[in-house]
Amino acid sequence: MSLQNGWIKMARKIPERPQVYQLKVAMNECNPETMIAMVLERPGEPLRRMRLPLPVPGPKELLIKVHACGICRTDLHILDGELASPKLPLIPGHEIIGTVIDRGEQARDFEINDRIGVPWLGYTDGSCSFCKSGRENLCDEAGFTGYTLDGGYAEYAVADQRFCFPISSSYSAVQAAPLMCAGLIGYRSYRLATHEPGLEVKRLGIYGFGAAAHIVCQIAVHQNKEVYAFTRPGDETAQQFALRLGAIWAGDSNRQPPQSLDAAIIFAPVGSLIPAALRATGKGGIVVCGGIHMSDVPSFPYSILWEERTIKSVANLTRRDGLEFLEIAPKVPVKTDVQTYPLEQANRAIEDLRHGRITGAAVLDMNL
Ligand SMILES: [Zn+2]
Ligand SMILES: [Zn+2]
Repeated sequence: MSLQNGWIKMARKIPERPQVYQLKVAMNECNPETMIAMVLERPGEPLRRMRLPLPVPGPKELLIKVHACGICRTDLHILDGELASPKLPLIPGHEIIGTVIDRGEQARDFEINDRIGVPWLGYTDGSCSFCKSGRENLCDEAGFTGYTLDGGYAEYAVADQRFCFPISSSYSAVQAAPLMCAGLIGYRSYRLATHEPGLEVKRLGIYGFGAAAHIVCQIAVHQNKEVYAFTRPGDETAQQFALRLGAIWAGDSNRQPPQSLDAAIIFAPVGSLIPAALRATGKGGIVVCGGIHMSDVPSFPYSILWEERTIKSVANLTRRDGLEFLEIAPKVPVKTDVQTYPLEQANRAIEDLRHGRITGAAVLDMNL
């Protein structure tokens, strides 16, 4: 986009020769050599707009023209230095939707021009004990898009084809982007909260009503569950949003729901919500923490954990989660609420997310 903008500027300087401009735009789109990316050089600093060489796909990788990339709360944790040892410098972003424009010699699962999604899980070794027991989300050697591998805050990206998903044509790129993490990891959290043997979940609490919650809420309502939405105290916008999406009740996170919950999912990165959710949850209930980072959990009396309540965290995703979720999402159909930003305004988008100014999900739209 910015390459084109550069040429547009050039064309404006030579308006008497518009054919030059048209030819150069065409050449850029077919075979660009550089791209614009928003780059993290050091945690704690804003992203820097940089012009970088186009990445070259490895044997099993795809080169993708990025159309949209969602902004996830995990990106904030990476930018703020709350997650250890990111690749540096790093192109963040792990909710990528784009089209395949080139392939490594062993990457033949997708065709040129296929539209695909790239999630957080970007690589596993396939050989460790976790991979071999269906738990590749816990792989010892896992690589993560936009954290230990470069991601999608850029015009182009490469990804290992084994971890890419085809994307239903019923979604635009911008609407599909939040499905790739808010959707996938939200779905894994939902599955862990609702598929506990012996636990029939009718009343589901959701703490923190952002991108993941607004997707999970739609699936839960579709599956005839009562959703109780808990937000930052006083955040009536988020509470109204939850009610519009079918939640039966919405209120401040420091309140008790009118009835005890069978299970709860915590998406907000706030450790004190664990005891709050335990207090709201009935006997044998489960509290699932869906985030990668949380503030410290305050001590709490054993009595609120007793009676076989469980606390569980969710780490990453498996490809099975992705395939299941992407099959369910168009059937519900899950609709995503997005606020879009041009790539070069990634820093503004991140600050809007940080300060709770996003309803639904923030997405970088490379066509803006
Ligand atoms: Zn994420
Ligand atoms: Zn492994």
